[in-house]
Amino acid sequence: MISVAEAIQIVKDETHALSPEQCQLTNALGRFLAEDIIADSDLPPFDRSQMDGYAVRAQDVKTVPVRLRIVGESAAGRGWHHEMGDSQAVRIMTGAPVPSGSDSVQQVEMTRELENGALVEVIESVELGKSIVRRGSEIKAGEIVLRAGERINSAMMAALASFGYVELKIGRRPRVAVLATGSELVAVNQTPAQDQIRDSNNYSIAAYSQLAGAAVERLPLTSDQTSLLKAQIDAASERCDVVVTSGGVSMGVYDFTKTALKELGAELFFERVALRPGKPTVFARLADGTFVFGLPGNPVSVSVTFNLFVRTALLAMQGANEPALQEETAVLARIVNPATLMTNDEGCLMAEPLKWGGSSDFVAFTRASALIIVPQGIKALAEGSRVRVVRLPD
Ligand code: AMP
Ligand code: MG
Repeated sequence: MISVAEAIQIVKDETHALSPEQCQLTNALGRFLAEDIIADSDLPPFDRSQMDGYAVRAQDVKTVPVRLRIVGESAAGRGWHHEMGDSQAVRIMTGAPVPSGSDSVQQVEMTRELENGALVEVIESVELGKSIVRRGSEIKAGEIVLRAGERINSAMMAALASFGYVELKIGRRPRVAVLATGSELVAVNQTPAQDQIRDSNNYSIAAYSQLAGAAVERLPLTSDQTSLLKAQIDAASERCDVVVTSGGVSMGVYDFTKTALKELGAELFFERVALRPGKPTVFARLADGTFVFGLPGNPVSVSVTFNLFVRTALLAMQGANEPALQEETAVLARIVNPATLMTNDEGCLMAEPLKWGGSSDFVAFTRASALIIVPQGIKALAEGSRVRVVRLPD
C-alpha cells in the first residue's frame, strides 16, 4: 500500500496542463495563469506625489516657518511640466507628477496659503524625498509581475488591469463527469424506500470540482452492475477529461468499479492508499487519456479523497504550480478527529477536533474546515501537541 504523499506524487506525475485558452480579464478571477505577466510600463510611471500639499525643495524649508511663491499646480492627470526654481512651490495633489526642480512634498496640513494663493507658508521642514514615490520604484517595465501557474486572486486583478492585460492566457477548465454508483441510491427529489438512501456524493463532488475550477457534468445514478458502470464511464470519457466515481471500490461482493475499469482496459496507478478514511481510492487512466478516480462511497471519504487526490489532478490540469493542498502546522486543542481551525489569543493556529460519529458522519463533517494529519502508527495525539493540517476548500 502506498502513502498519501506517494499517491499525491503519482497524481502530479501523471497529470499535465491542458492546452491553455484565451480569457477576458473580467472572467479571469480564480483561473490559473498560463503565461508570465510582464509590466508594460514602470510603476509608478512618473515621480508621483503621495500627498495633497506642496512640491518644494527640502533645502528651502529647512528653517521654518518659511514663505514660498506658488508658481503652479500639478493635479492627477494634469501635471505642471516646467522647471520649479529656488524658493518656489507647486501646489500638488495625490497621484500627480512631481515637477522637476522640486525634491520633496510637504503635506497640506503643514502649510498655509497666503495672499490669495500667491504664497504658501510652510510650518514644518520636510525630509528630502518625502511623500514622493519615484518612477519605477514599485515595478520596472519588463519585469515579471506574476508567474505562470499562479491562481488569479482579486488583488492580482488590479495588477493585470494596470499592465493592460485585457485578455490573457489561462489554463483550460478540465471537464469532469461525476458518477455515483450503488444500488441503494435514489435521487435527491425522491423519498428513499426501504434500504435506500439519497445520493449525496454527486453534490459534494460537483461542488468541490467547481471550486477546483472544473466544468462539471452529472451522469445518471448507476446501480452496482459492471456493464452499466462500463457503459457510463466509456460514454463520459468521450466528452470529459476526468471521471469521478463514488462507491463500489471496497472489498464487497458488489464493488464493481475496479472490474469495470479493468475490463475497459484502464491503467490502474493505485487502488489502495494508507489513509483513513479513504483507503480504497482508485486512480486510473483509460486508453484515450481520460483519468478516472474511483472514490469510496462513504461521503466523508469522498470529501477527504477528493481534496487530496482529485483536486490535485484538476489543478495540475489547469497548470497550477502548486496543485496539492499545502500543509500547515497547528496546535491540537483537544484529542484528535477532523477539526475546525481557529486562532487563539496568542495568534497561534489551533486545531479543534470535531465531535463526530466516524467516517460515515457527513453531517458532523460539514463543520470541518481542515484535516489533521495523523501519521501512520500513531494511536493518539495529546492536547497541545503540534500537528500538521491541511485546510479544506469550501
Ligand atoms: P461503498 O463504497 O459502495 O461500499 O459505499 C460505502 C458507504 O457509502 C455505503 O454506506 C453507501 O451506501 C454509501 N454511499 C455510497 N454512495 C453514496 C452516495 N452517492 N451518496 C451517499 N452515500 C453513498
Ligand atoms: Mg456501494
